[in-house]
Amino acid sequence: MSEYRTVVGLEVHVQLLTISKLFCGCSVTFGQPPNSAVCPVCLGMPGVLPVMNQKAFELALRAALALNCQIAPYTKWDRKNYYYPDLPKNFQISQYDLPFSFEGYLDIPASLDQPSKRVGLFRAHLEEDAGKSMHDESGQGGSTKVDLNRAGTPLLEIVSKPEIHSAEDARAYLEELRLLLKEAGISDCEMQEGSLRCDANVNIHIPQADGSFIATPIVEVKNLNSFRAVERSIRYEAMRQMEQYQKDGKKMGEVSKCTAGWDDARGVTIVQRRKEEASDYRYFPEPDLAPIRITAEMLERAKASLGELPHQARARLQADFGLGIYDADLLVRMGRAITAYFEKVVSAGADAKSACNWVANQVLTTLNESKSTIDQYPLTPGILAGLVVEVQKSGLNMQRAREVYGAMLADGVDAKTAIQKLGFVAVADEAALAEMIRKAMAANPKAVSDFKAGKIKAADSLKGAVMKETKGMAKADLLQKILLDELNKV
Ligand SMILES: [Zn+2]
Repeated sequence: MSEYRTVVGLEVHVQLLTISKLFCGCSVTFGQPPNSAVCPVCLGMPGVLPVMNQKAFELALRAALALNCQIAPYTKWDRKNYYYPDLPKNFQISQYDLPFSFEGYLDIPASLDQPSKRVGLFRAHLEEDAGKSMHDESGQGGSTKVDLNRAGTPLLEIVSKPEIHSAEDARAYLEELRLLLKEAGISDCEMQEGSLRCDANVNIHIPQADGSFIATPIVEVKNLNSFRAVERSIRYEAMRQMEQYQKDGKKMGEVSKCTAGWDDARGVTIVQRRKEEASDYRYFPEPDLAPIRITAEMLERAKASLGELPHQARARLQADFGLGIYDADLLVRMGRAITAYFEKVVSAGADAKSACNWVANQVLTTLNESKSTIDQYPLTPGILAGLVVEVQKSGLNMQRAREVYGAMLADGVDAKTAIQKLGFVAVADEAALAEMIRKAMAANPKAVSDFKAGKIKAADSLKGAVMKETKGMAKADLLQKILLDELNKV
């Protein structure tokens, strides 16, 4: 019996794209000198009063709408009490029993081989971040330092239901969540800078003969520093729990929920401690902040600020441009700005499939190589459309087309000029091509007889001979047509 079902819920924290902290005016810019972006409020000095950052609340509301959440008409703040060196107030302002949003969902998009999958969300709530402990890693037993620049940074916590059933789906969920939050301007989701963090709650369900199943204790896996780490740790943890179950059997039910750290270098989870229950935090309402009533006007504003979300963009690109799932997804993942550029290339006369290929390959490569954005890209949509059209008209092969593209970038010229300059004038003279084909057939009678015997591929060598003679400049579709005509005459 080795069949089991992986059950994963993800808790994601994202930093909202504000200029200042959640309850004071301190800057949240990344990389400032330690403890330079602090004030009496975020340091928790006696007698100070927090004031809520309106922008943070607006962004959180936008996120809740993007995540299909229900919005509470009335929400409040709570204190989560615990003692830790990076938490100067000894409590964190969070939301406990009345979060501003709950019961949402996010769809993992469909791919070529899978339909889309819906993952329910328990809630999304706002809270402030703690500071950062910097432990001495020299191994010399040095001191731990604390940087409180992050203390008070606005975070949105998004808690999924345990409805993710594989490591791959966990990663796909995170990728879609990141894309959505970035595109809607809610967070930049930079894992390296700590503006997106993820913990994974993992257990497995083992089916029993009577149709029921045994659930292993949930392990919350922390210290996940990349999407790849999330994926690897879930795969590992599910297997570890299965092995544990095979050793301990039903005794496992006695273990309570616990926390584990992911060791990325060794590729293992290390179970650390019992997980605190909510009661350990002695939550109580924050007395220094007024509750918030969410008005219809606030909701309208948030709705208007959403813009087109990734799943809407995918559907529109498929419906309006006839693109397949794969291409539509490719464009959407490149972001709104590049998608808009693609649309302009099509409006300027290029066909959608070719335009998509050019944008996803050559244009993206150029942007990556020059570390620039689409706004700085030198070719206007009209000029790129001209290249797509010329390539099709002249039948240039892809290698030649890329050379034309290179010349356009280097010399700042349009496709026609570049083609002339490179001397890439396609051979589209029917009589000349027919003559070359007859010559090739005479030189290779075996290819002709093979073709006649049903080996369609045999025609390729005849085509190759003509391509060689024209140095790759024969117009491909025309050559194909004439080749078949000539073969049919024999
Ligand atoms: Zn402050």
